[in-house]
Amino acid sequence: AGTLMRGKKGLVMGVANDRSIAWAIAQAVAAQGGELAFTYQGEALGKRVRPLADSIGSKLVLPCDVSDDAAIDETFSILEKEWGGLDFVVHAIGWADKQYLRGRYVDTPREAFLTALDISCYSFTAVARRAAAMMKSGGSLLTLSYLGAERVMPHYNVMGVAKAALEASVRYMAADLGQDGIRVNAISAGPIKTLAASGIGDFRYILKWNEYNAPLERNVSLSDVGGAGLYMLSDLSRGVTGEVHHVDSGYHIVGMKNPKAPDI
Ligand code: NAD
Repeated sequence: AGTLMRGKKGLVMGVANDRSIAWAIAQAVAAQGGELAFTYQGEALGKRVRPLADSIGSKLVLPCDVSDDAAIDETFSILEKEWGGLDFVVHAIGWADKQYLRGRYVDTPREAFLTALDISCYSFTAVARRAAAMMKSGGSLLTLSYLGAERVMPHYNVMGVAKAALEASVRYMAADLGQDGIRVNAISAGPIKTLAASGIGDFRYILKWNEYNAPLERNVSLSDVGGAGLYMLSDLSRGVTGEVHHVDSGYHIVGMKNPKAPDI
């Protein structure tokens, strides 16, 4: 085991199961000696998160639905009492009604738009403000995005708009919090088959397309994203803030289909 994260304490939000990106980052951090607390959305997921947290010796496993300010306050008041300080946060949370993750973006109703932006973008701001108040000697805040923020991806629709807002919020918060030594970054991950991804139309096709057309000619693994997460949360990235770091086998640089790629 390494020691890169020894003495650091952090909150991981967004573990649903052992396929979650949040869990991959948590494992990478725990392997380097970091101490972790977890939040989960609803008791059904709590039953899955508790044994995972146990397996890496985490004692703090708390419910927190990020659409509820009181629930976020409660989480941070418990962290304040238990830990007193905080070094990092992983925000790996996104949600949109899956009815609108197909068809045309232009048909998104107001309510579906507001909920997607609330859960997938505003929640990071709400969490960051409370976390920053606990970060006495600097810190690192990390969220997860996707290329659909920058370019049109089939079916991503309102989530693309929410991720664009999330990436902008990373830059604004990096500017706000830099003077306190607090860094704010995003990882823009390539497609990975998780619970959240299963809501996106034609996801298998998207996975194949990326595999054939990305420079590395493979999809990214959970541990690829875990490793990048560890970098962003550790002092190795101490000079990095306001960044959207692509962990996507290089797919985002490609301008055209790989001529060698087979038909899908
Ligand atoms: P996941 O389903 O394992 O995680 C999504 C998490 O969001 C779940 O733990 C869920 O409980 C949580 N969540 C949703 N609404 C919530 C709420 N109201 N309160 C609290 N938690 C809530 O899937 P994942 O793919 O690991 O997703 C993590 C992040 O990574 C998301 O932001 C997602 O958009 C992003 N991402 C995923 C991919 C991919 O292909 N899987 C690619 C790029 C970015």
